[in-house]
Amino acid sequence: MRPKLVVGNWKMNGSLAANADLLAGIVAGLGNAKAACAVCAPAPYLFQCQQLLAGTPVAWGAQDVSEHASGAYTGEASAAMLADFACRYVIVGHSERRAYHGESNELVARKTVAALKAGLTPIVCVGETLGQREAGQTAAVVGAQLAAVLELLDAAQAKGIVVAYEPVWAIGTGKTATPDMAQEVHAQLRAQLKERIGGAAEEINILYGGSMKPDNAADLMSRQDIDGGLIGGASLKAADFLAIIKAA
Ligand code: PGA
Repeated sequence: MRPKLVVGNWKMNGSLAANADLLAGIVAGLGNAKAACAVCAPAPYLFQCQQLLAGTPVAWGAQDVSEHASGAYTGEASAAMLADFACRYVIVGHSERRAYHGESNELVARKTVAALKAGLTPIVCVGETLGQREAGQTAAVVGAQLAAVLELLDAAQAKGIVVAYEPVWAIGTGKTATPDMAQEVHAQLRAQLKERIGGAAEEINILYGGSMKPDNAADLMSRQDIDGGLIGGASLKAADFLAIIKAA
């Protein structure tokens, strides 16, 4: 079966000192955990991650990337720059970027392409708001979000993505989708991937994100199509993050 993947999304948290403690704690406590793991840090700390994590089993990545390769795009960082710091992953289309920075499905798709071209693994986030879930639109919303990305990728590229299902109403709220609710969406996403790339869809990691914690992680990740987690709040404490990695 697919090896599981647990990724920390630090969001805009951390400092040199706090990160050093957190990363040392993670590396020291990892033991022989089976799941792959990574942390996605704010851009200024990617160099620190590279310094502290190179040669360990913990990979690192960024939380956003520009769709452009270089040039007059003040404030942006290109995929090649992230690759320069040996990032393996980059989160694209997180709901906070969609909501606060107006990122459209099409822009998220272009960012995904930019990441793949630089050799990064994009973690493509999809998810519905509470209003959309209550209106029965979950399948249509996440389906359209993934479709926009798949439309720009050839089959080989599509095989190189990770997908994260993050219901917006579950992020940072303490409300988690039940394993049944999450599995239903994950199965839909897997079916959509299968239509595009056939059996290779079985090898794609589809992560769940949204208030995943040590006490609900094992239950969620025991489901057939839930292949790991994208962890916000609980990735900021080494003990919690390690407990989730070990539950995978
Ligand atoms: P949370 O965040 O675990 O704090 O809910 C998850 C995410 O936004 O990736």
